[in-house]
Amino acid sequence: MSVIVSGSTTFEVEVEVLIIGGGACGLTAALAAKDAGSEPLVLERWASCSGSSSMSLGALCAAGSSEQKLNDIDDDAEVFFADIMHRTGGTADPVIARTVAENSGPALDWLANRHNVVFELDLGWRPAFGHTRQRLHAVAERTGQDMMARLLNACEHAQIDIMTEAQVTDLFATPEGLITGVRVKRPDGSLEEIGCKAMVLATSGFGGNRDMITRHIPDMQDARYFGWEANQGDGIRWGQALGAAVADMDAYQGLGLLAEPQGLDVNPKLLIEGGFQINSQGVRFSHELDDVSGQGARVIRQPGGFGWVIYDQRIHEIATTFPQYQALMALNAAKTAATAEDLARLMAIEPGPFAQTLAAVQALQQGGGIDEFGRRFEAPSLSAPYFALKVTGALFHTQGGLEIDATARVKRGDGSLLANLFAGGGAARGISGKGPSGYLPGAGLCSAVSLGFVAGQSAAKLAKA
Ligand SMILES: Cc1cc2nc3c(=O)[nH]c(=O)nc-3n(C[C@H](O)[C@H](O)[C@H](O)COP(=O)(O)OP(=O)(O)OC[C@H]3O[C@@H](n4cnc5c(N)ncnc54)[C@H](O)[C@@H]3O)c2cc1C
Repeated sequence: MSVIVSGSTTFEVEVEVLIIGGGACGLTAALAAKDAGSEPLVLERWASCSGSSSMSLGALCAAGSSEQKLNDIDDDAEVFFADIMHRTGGTADPVIARTVAENSGPALDWLANRHNVVFELDLGWRPAFGHTRQRLHAVAERTGQDMMARLLNACEHAQIDIMTEAQVTDLFATPEGLITGVRVKRPDGSLEEIGCKAMVLATSGFGGNRDMITRHIPDMQDARYFGWEANQGDGIRWGQALGAAVADMDAYQGLGLLAEPQGLDVNPKLLIEGGFQINSQGVRFSHELDDVSGQGARVIRQPGGFGWVIYDQRIHEIATTFPQYQALMALNAAKTAATAEDLARLMAIEPGPFAQTLAAVQALQQGGGIDEFGRRFEAPSLSAPYFALKVTGALFHTQGGLEIDATARVKRGDGSLLANLFAGGGAARGISGKGPSGYLPGAGLCSAVSLGFVAGQSAAKLAKA
């Protein structure tokens, strides 16, 4: 994997906009580039366009969308921007945060109106984890797989060329840093070279690259990676080889809600609706709603590296509409019992401490109190029968990456811009600031779609100039 610097490379095939990576960012960039009048080509390493986008819950935050207006939600780019800066303690890049916030609603409206990819406002997601407004959107089926199927369908309708099983191994560039093309490896080992006028890096982050995780996020080097294995940080490393700046490389999305041993992610709504987490000693260890991403490392730090999500029949019924939860139920993942003591026995933990913990939470819910971790509980109180799901913490995807400007063009360390290189989604610096705690729910897909929308238009404009 390298950047081949050459003064004169000629290609038999040349396209206007070359997009590397066929996840949500790459497909959105392709649609935007096509709408802007250019002919894009998407190169995807895998046999299908999936990526971590297809593994996701498909929940995407966006502000100022028509869906929010229809539902009388008072939100706009300014409020979203303020939430990002507040959540990250001011460490998010304000230019990227503003670009994402301003383009998030328009990108969803454009996908719906122009490409029939409709993201509905998820009214079940109350403002939480740093969002002050209801702004989580998802396609009707509420899965990342269905979101990707809809994006792919839109690309087919738009007659966009997508080459799968096409792993980009090298970039060609002039000594001045102008990208001229790529080398692609096919499954039979053969190599092809394709030229381009502009390029979008949509290769996501580096969660699948153990060396990079050890270097940049040592706290998670032993954690389970529950993301797309092909995301090896290729785009970030090509950018760096070309002199691009990177930032927030220690930022990541973790989650303390990976069902163990089923390996399916549990929807945070179980907690938002009044559920809580305990460890194997039957006691709570955190404010479950203050840091959706940092909760991953907190769960891993518990004895045995796991915990339990505790909830009740009412929350179970809400959750039965979520596809991942349905899959967990089909696997008999949840334990359920009529009393705290019986549930404790099913979890193989001491009944006494767990019964005390549950009673304390119920008292807080009945009285509307705040606990020792600062979590405010509200009615209704949990009531029998009770449920428990065993979970562990995991690294889902990384949030640091290439520095870009408001047109998604990649920046060098000295602030100058690479001539024709754009980046979005997990390949670009995200909106989560540093570490795990700045992550807002839905921010990963929001960056993928919003920056794909911007990068595709910018690359097309440049290629046409
Ligand atoms: C389990 C899970 C749940 C999640 N849930 C949510 C959620 O509900 N909401 C949310 O906002 N975010 C969620 N995320 C994060 C979200 O999925 C990512 O932030 C987002 O999908 C990134 O999109 P992307 O297009 O940049 O990358 P991806 O979707 O990962 O696409 C990158 C693509 O590039 C390809 N690629 C990489 N290198 C090369 C190469 N050299 N040549 C050719 N192709 C290459 C890969 O194969 C991949 O298909 C979740 C992540 C995981 C793992």
